[in-house]
Amino acid sequence: MCLSLPCTDKDEWQLEFPFCGGQKQSPINIDTNSTIFSHELQPIVLAGYSLDPSEQLSLMNNGHTVVLQLPGSLTIASGYPQEYRAMQLHLHWGSPEGPGSEHTVDGRRYDGEIHMVYYNPSCGSIKEAMKQPGGLAVLAAFLQVGPEDNMHYQPLLEQLHKVQEEGKETTVAGFNIEGLLPANLGRYYRYSGSLTTPPCYQTVNWTVFNWTVLLSKEQISLLETTLQGDDDTDLQNNFRLTQRLHGRKVLASFQASLSPRKVPLPDGGVAPMTPAPDSATERSMDKVPGTGAGCPPCADSEKRLGFALQPADVLAGLFGALFAVTALAFLIYIHRQRSQNRRPDSHPKPNIIYTAATTDENTV
Ligand SMILES: [Zn+2]
Repeated sequence: MCLSLPCTDKDEWQLEFPFCGGQKQSPINIDTNSTIFSHELQPIVLAGYSLDPSEQLSLMNNGHTVVLQLPGSLTIASGYPQEYRAMQLHLHWGSPEGPGSEHTVDGRRYDGEIHMVYYNPSCGSIKEAMKQPGGLAVLAAFLQVGPEDNMHYQPLLEQLHKVQEEGKETTVAGFNIEGLLPANLGRYYRYSGSLTTPPCYQTVNWTVFNWTVLLSKEQISLLETTLQGDDDTDLQNNFRLTQRLHGRKVLASFQASLSPRKVPLPDGGVAPMTPAPDSATERSMDKVPGTGAGCPPCADSEKRLGFALQPADVLAGLFGALFAVTALAFLIYIHRQRSQNRRPDSHPKPNIIYTAATTDENTV
């Protein structure tokens, strides 16, 4: 997330901004084998995101990314211990030569990443919230090449040419902002991190969704090739490299141990700055046309392997096995009873009427 300038010279940031060398920096690589399931992480619920077209939003090229200002009436109503109000959203992307998400999952970098930035109103002003622990929240989702245009992104992308140069600004008519995020807001990772640009304040409650957002190759290309940054150079690869965890834990809102992502990937993930997998198989996966819904990172690969094991499948298997064992035991019991009754030397039980022991008998 880039909230201020400069957003370049990443290695030298900490010389001027000490927090950039801190131990709770973002982005990070999410190692799915090390995530911890937390039942306290409830699905993210958003409120107020269908904006009327009469509402005009500012869109600006700040030299590092394209920023869409959001009204504070857009909130995260649930999914965090407190309410957060929207500030802005922006995007990160790569170049025609390689992907450009900020976070990575098991070493895999995605084509792009959207960040919706929020502040905690109980901290007072936005400026104060930026400095307070938990004062900021970011909802992050990976952008990935899919089979067709994502219509939810069109209101944003069709205005890019108007902010081609650094410092340019235009307006965008209100639209459904929630459509820019994955359809499934229930599966995500959560960790404590920072702004990914100076001053790198370590005050961000990050949510990284497990589902990607699919855009067409043309839309991703438009993002990668339209804007210019400093010195009229192409604005590309505007992501910070992943930072060390320094003992931080990454929580998951879902049971990663039951997730298909545990299956080793045939491609082993994608190293930073190398092209994303570009197979026709991957592009044809899972997409409901025009909804912006995508597939969980890495899960598409397991589907190719036929290991799409979901929690419901596991439960169904367990109940099925239990039923089979019970039925088998019952059949054995019936068989034994019949065998016993057929034995020629078996004696019929005497016709005895059993009576319950009385209290007096038990106290003898
Ligand atoms: Zn960002």
